[in-house]
Amino acid sequence: MATQTSINSPALAESTVEEFAQALRGTLIRRSDASYESARRVYNAMIDRHPLLIARCANVADVITSVNFARTNKLLVAIRSGGHNGPGLGVCDDGLVIDLSPMKGIRIDPVQRTARVETGCTLGDVDHATHAFGLATPSGIISTTGVGGITLGGGIGNLTRQLGLSIDNVLEADVVLADGRFVTANAETNPDLFWALRGGGGNFGVVTSFLYRLHPVSIVYGGPMLWNLEQAEEVLRWYRDFLPQAPDELNGFFAFLTVPPAAPFPEDLQGKIMCGVVWCYTGSVDTSESTFAPIRARFGGPTLDWVGPIPEPALQSMFDGVYPAGDQWYWKADFFNELPDAAIKQHIEFASKMPTWQSTMHLYPVDGVASRVPKNATAWTNRDAKWSEVIVGVGKDPADNDRMIKWAREYWESVHPYSTGGAYINMIMDEGTDRIKATYGDNYDRLAAIKANYDPSNLFRVNQNIAPS
Ligand SMILES: Cc1cc2nc3c(=O)[nH]c(=O)nc-3n(C[C@H](O)[C@H](O)[C@H](O)COP(=O)(O)OP(=O)(O)OC[C@H]3O[C@@H](n4cnc5c(N)ncnc54)[C@H](O)[C@@H]3O)c2cc1C
Repeated sequence: MATQTSINSPALAESTVEEFAQALRGTLIRRSDASYESARRVYNAMIDRHPLLIARCANVADVITSVNFARTNKLLVAIRSGGHNGPGLGVCDDGLVIDLSPMKGIRIDPVQRTARVETGCTLGDVDHATHAFGLATPSGIISTTGVGGITLGGGIGNLTRQLGLSIDNVLEADVVLADGRFVTANAETNPDLFWALRGGGGNFGVVTSFLYRLHPVSIVYGGPMLWNLEQAEEVLRWYRDFLPQAPDELNGFFAFLTVPPAAPFPEDLQGKIMCGVVWCYTGSVDTSESTFAPIRARFGGPTLDWVGPIPEPALQSMFDGVYPAGDQWYWKADFFNELPDAAIKQHIEFASKMPTWQSTMHLYPVDGVASRVPKNATAWTNRDAKWSEVIVGVGKDPADNDRMIKWAREYWESVHPYSTGGAYINMIMDEGTDRIKATYGDNYDRLAAIKANYDPSNLFRVNQNIAPS
């Protein structure tokens, strides 16, 4: 096991717990509290863990108090920002959850084009705040995701080709370390920690805020364009050849999906498995139509075309309704440099057998600006991959879980031989240390050494864990 999510609960005196509660400006939730049941839940309903205590931190002082309390009392610690993590690493059994969700401060500096963001914010909170200034920073495609987990793992989304990963736009992070010290990490101060935080996950401390670089992105030209599954082979071959040659201003992730069985989707398409691309073009308005005209002319025209001018936050939250909190999720992932015809055939075979309507496969481009960052400039080393693939079995009924998991595993096994090795750590379940090592490649040893410096006792181990060297 790469990850530890449970430990024997130490016996804590009631007075010790009460003293901790009194020291917090936020709320300490115990097993006997009415709010415990909802507070322990994370986004993925497959995860069912029972922490001893949940500290809803109001500020950095609360985070320092919580880290010191966990270390002193030998409690396992889980750090939660948005709670979206697939294997549920924002919660543990019997330990302390440091829940950052009340920490929602955001300060935009429109002159310097930066945003200081506390880590209880979701991606939607950030887009909302920056959009008022006509600015944005790259993040993921569902607005309820927390900035903490997505940023520390990398951050792939609609602006990756144009502006890089989320981590490529982090200028600074404030961090509470395992020994309770508060430090700032940037290119000049604690540069080794700054390097490790950009891709190394929650291994190095509790990040209380990020300083992000912002860019003038306001109205983009984007949305989903779908074709029939019978056309998938030619569409995916074309996408494979076309996108890597396209200008950085054009991002588009490929998807196999089922059209949701509800309005506003056309009734004749509802429930139909299709293939498509979700586009995001940030070139000038004058060139949008001419950029998309040859795409629209292909394959007899798309069956559904919802691509057009759209405010960036609207594109960023377009699929929130399809994926509410509380569904069952099982994740598999890989990086790809090539999509040979034999792999495309496997994709189509498994896409046509999707176990539930919410299950899906996405290929997120990680080329463009993201690929021009040197492999060893940040902990995220997969700069030579062209796509980050995710296969997710998603459903509402736990009775479907076995079927969903079997489909996702078999699908993954069929295309894995064509992958580059390793996988995006934000899109895997608990897959063991070898998989984590394969993901970080040549950067792993440096990460383990930095971990030994900042967290020698591995206090922060409820994560895709990098053991201290
Ligand atoms: C519906 C959905 C859509 C997604 N879309 C995308 C996408 O478009 N692009 C993408 O890149 N990823 C995406 N993801 C994956 C996402 O990046 C991971 O699930 C990520 O872990 C979520 O972050 P979180 O803060 O919400 O998670 P949490 O469960 O709160 O945290 C996960 C882990 O991150 C670490 N962590 C979180 N906050 C902190 C902190 N402040 N300090 C230190 N460590 C911390 C901890 O190790 C924690 O266990 C998506 C996930 C879901 C469920």
